[in-house]
Amino acid sequence: METPAGTQRPSEGYLEAFRHFATQAIHTGQEPEQWTSMAVVPPISLSTTFKQHGPGEHAGFEYSRSGNPTRNCLEKAVAALDGAKYCLAYASGLAATLNIAHLLKAGDQIICTSDVYGGTNRYFRRVAAEMGLKVTFVDCSDLKCLEAAITPETKLLWIETPTNPTLTVIDIQGCAEIAHRRKDIILAVDNTFMSAYFQRPLALGADICMYSATKYMNGHSDVVMGLVSVNCDKLYERLKFLQNALGAIPSPFDCYLCNRGLKTLHLRMEQHFKNALAAARFLEADPRVDKVIFPGLPSHPQYELTRRQCTGVPGMITFYIKGNLEHAKTFLKNLKVFALAESLGGYESLAEHPAIMTHASVPEEDRAALNISDCLIRLSVGLEDVEDIVEDLDQALKAAHPDLSNHK
Ligand SMILES: *Cc1c(COP(=O)(O)O)cnc(C)c1O
Repeated sequence: METPAGTQRPSEGYLEAFRHFATQAIHTGQEPEQWTSMAVVPPISLSTTFKQHGPGEHAGFEYSRSGNPTRNCLEKAVAALDGAKYCLAYASGLAATLNIAHLLKAGDQIICTSDVYGGTNRYFRRVAAEMGLKVTFVDCSDLKCLEAAITPETKLLWIETPTNPTLTVIDIQGCAEIAHRRKDIILAVDNTFMSAYFQRPLALGADICMYSATKYMNGHSDVVMGLVSVNCDKLYERLKFLQNALGAIPSPFDCYLCNRGLKTLHLRMEQHFKNALAAARFLEADPRVDKVIFPGLPSHPQYELTRRQCTGVPGMITFYIKGNLEHAKTFLKNLKVFALAESLGGYESLAEHPAIMTHASVPEEDRAALNISDCLIRLSVGLEDVEDIVEDLDQALKAAHPDLSNHK
């Protein structure tokens, strides 16, 4: 295509190289060789493909599914935070879980702790099991129970600690000892709730540390992403192969955002802990509340284990409001600082009703066994001023229980 008359202007000699309109639009100023700028903040590298010096001779990147500079940047930072050799990023937490499940083959058994994230439960029961994997749910906070469930087919032990939504803390080291009596059992820990700042599963003997980075790791409720950290070279090679072969990778923009989120992870987690502790103490002392579950309170059954295993506790509180479903609903509808929404781990406070919302896909009898009752409420305490957080809980409890609030 000819360049329209009169539009040619000298521009540092580029016209010499490309004389026609479309070629100019596509190539002028775009030389791949120039991207060695010294930008302090990592650039968002959107290119899906990378120029090669000669066939097969490339500068570390070929095609963006297999490797991307922005993703690399994030993966290296997360590996460092986990004390790991390697990290791989995925399009979601569940995509990370799916990639890990692909380490197995038909007939292999997964042992999964009973009280996992609803989507993990659904994936194992309704997808992985349909594809020939055996899935057994056991309460891994009881190590004897776990030990008894292991069979010659067991290849993956999947735990989440604290569990969701009942915040049971599982002994990672204890699980690792049991799993590693055999060479062929992989222990994977979903570390979403604790984040890399409060808990390092690999140092406690886990083979895989997995995250829904959608939660605390990104921390701003604007990215859906999964992360997996490992130390074993062979495990990494296989997972790296699967990351490319299955293709569930995150976008460079999401990698940029999550990498940015990590910069304040330590500050956010410390503040989540402080705010949640204050909220949990308030709820525990309140007559309108039946029971509070928070691993940072001495009343938590695994308080000592938590202190040994973690350096802090995130903003997750589970509590049973006095009364019935109507009281729970009235409380949730009257919150003002807390938004009634699924998810967790962002800077903003959220509240939800697990039986109706996040854990609706867990079969009713399993919910009953786990005490996920109509009165159970899950809070993700955010980074607002703690006075406002506590005041909000107080006024919503008042709306739910005006009769018990006279003293207030
Ligand atoms: C949200 C969540 C997941 C799933 O992650 P997505 O990013 O939503 O796919 C897995 N585990 C836990 C503990 C979660 O909270």
